Amino acid sequence: MTEVDLNHIYKKYDGNDKYSVNDFDLHIKDKEFIVFVGPSGCGKSTTLRMIAGLEDITEGTLEIDHKVMNDVAPKNRDIAMVFQNYALYPHMTIYDNMAFGLKLRHYSKEDIDKKVKHAAEILGLTSYLKKKPAALSGGQRQRVALGRSIVRDAPIFLMDEPLSNLDAKLRVSMRAEIAKLHQRLGTTTIYVTHDQTEAMTLADRVVVMSVGKVQQIGTPLEVYNKP
Ligand code: ADP
Ligand code: ADP
Repeated sequence: MTEVDLNHIYKKYDGNDKYSVNDFDLHIKDKEFIVFVGPSGCGKSTTLRMIAGLEDITEGTLEIDHKVMNDVAPKNRDIAMVFQNYALYPHMTIYDNMAFGLKLRHYSKEDIDKKVKHAAEILGLTSYLKKKPAALSGGQRQRVALGRSIVRDAPIFLMDEPLSNLDAKLRVSMRAEIAKLHQRLGTTTIYVTHDQTEAMTLADRVVVMSVGKVQQIGTPLEVYNKP
């Protein structure tokens, strides 16, 4: 069971006079796929980064399974995250790229091996593990970035515009892969995008944002078929 509660969350960056996130209030259910959608600058990334612990929360509380997380360090939150700029280490093999976070967390060699190979199998990367990133296509590299995040089996998965660096055709196929991955892993997922089609196809529920405020929350049908 992994639920995430954002209780009236506000964010004001130092030096700004306006709130970047203004009264964000949402209960996310176990295994739910939530998409934050809205134009650039509306506060999607800021909200996601507060959930990951990469930004302080100015006001309000973040709860994971009913435990207040505001002051918990990112490394002590059981969360995986994929960014738009998924820079892989170019000098390392795909295996080492995927193992990196596990090594940092002092997992045993056997455990790392099992987890990396399992993630590689899920993502169709088994035959690329000994290669370096430069030998892979854009889609394969993006899959490695996903792999690097899922190896730890974190119950919460955050994705910030993970497909925006890919060309249109690849975006469509990776979108389908992300949907499948979610079904297979059963993680509680929050996905940030400015692309309404991505939101429509991926979300259980969509959160529509505009200038720091939540405008609408609902299923894709509810949100996009409103007269
Ligand atoms: P989105 O992800 O929807 O594009 P962001 O969360 O990145 O939006 O940004 C929301 C608002 O917060 C914007 O007005 C942006 O300029 C501001 N902002 C984002 N990061 C910072 C920062 N580190 N310092 C000051 N202002 C920021
Ligand atoms: P260069 O751009 O000089 O060839 P790298 O891209 O390997 O070198 O690394 C540049 C810096 O970014 C290094 O400090 C490296 O540790 C860091 N870095 C590279 N990839 C990542 C990543 N995926 N996550 C975090 N830090 C990274």
